[in-house]
Amino acid sequence: MLVNRAYKFRLYPSVKQEELINKTIGCSRLVYNIMLSKKKNNSKLTSFDMIKEIPKLYNEYQFLKEVDSCSLRCAIFDLENGLNKYYKKQGGYPKFKKKGIKDSYRTNYIKNTYKDKIYENIKIDLKNKIITLPKLKEAKIKGYRHLECINGRIINATIEHIANKYYVSICVEEEIPNVKSNASSVVGIDMGIKSLITTSEGISYGNPNYLKKYERKIKGLQKGLSRKIKGSNNYNKYKRKIQEAYRKLQNARRKTNEEIVSKIIKDNDIIVTEDLNINSMIKVANKFLRKNIINSTMSDIIRRLKYKCEWLNKKLIQVNRYYASSQICSSCGNKNKIMKDIKIREYKCPKCGIEIERDINASINIMYEGIISYYKERYQN
Ligand SMILES: [Zn+2]
Repeated sequence: MLVNRAYKFRLYPSVKQEELINKTIGCSRLVYNIMLSKKKNNSKLTSFDMIKEIPKLYNEYQFLKEVDSCSLRCAIFDLENGLNKYYKKQGGYPKFKKKGIKDSYRTNYIKNTYKDKIYENIKIDLKNKIITLPKLKEAKIKGYRHLECINGRIINATIEHIANKYYVSICVEEEIPNVKSNASSVVGIDMGIKSLITTSEGISYGNPNYLKKYERKIKGLQKGLSRKIKGSNNYNKYKRKIQEAYRKLQNARRKTNEEIVSKIIKDNDIIVTEDLNINSMIKVANKFLRKNIINSTMSDIIRRLKYKCEWLNKKLIQVNRYYASSQICSSCGNKNKIMKDIKIREYKCPKCGIEIERDINASINIMYEGIISYYKERYQN
């Protein structure tokens, strides 16, 4: 089976390369913003039309010629993706890009054969820790110490600039062996605020309290930032510190999420979660920052579950989000509406008398719902 996989390296550009990277990021952003405003004026404009417009932009903005032209086309593809998501109601209408927020550009892999010589615009040499990128030529990288080479076809590279550091992510198409599946164990997962994940086996993972440490730090820095004069050296210093704190938070989260998902997948063949409208669920965590952190942590876990299940030929079932998993008694099926109040942590069933932790009760219900939909699907096909 072919899967897409990303490898992210720290990139160490020279001063000149750094300049070119920042210039390319700026040019990609410019093209993206110009095309977005054109699209706003003329909704019929297609990506193909936009790509044809690039040479015209060269006359007006001569500096666009200095950067990797593929990155400018990628900016248009990114816009197209954003618009498609909007049309499918998976996201809001694309916004204009601002400097300092997600500074990055993407470029696609191109292979040419000329006079029997193969030319590739993106190359990676893990032995010598060198990456070759269009226009930038060779640059040093760090990461994946134990990996000797990347087995697969490079699709694209994304170059990021975060808090004065540079990174490059290589997206690769890899062949992974097909795994035979014999579904024998099933687990239900409830995602929440008290514990990130509670399973129907009664195990809790990832108390999001560890996020509090970062939350406090980021909040403190943001407070500091608000007292600085915009654009001053101190202001920029604080901004970098905030980006750095976010990056650390992201790394910590990635590591924890990977561990949780690996553990769950290792022990189970069918994993059932709620198809959450996460935003509506975390209403209680009214503190804006934590809400954002928890929401993106949950989406990250779902994303990991999705691709890992696909790779390992396991089944991920997402049950309807309107399913009243927290109100139904997992023992007798009685519905207890007072459980709508999420402050009640213990499920006490007035009908059968069972007392069970709220999240465990919910995860067992989710598991049952998953088993039902699993068999429905099997008998329909
Ligand atoms: Zn009951």
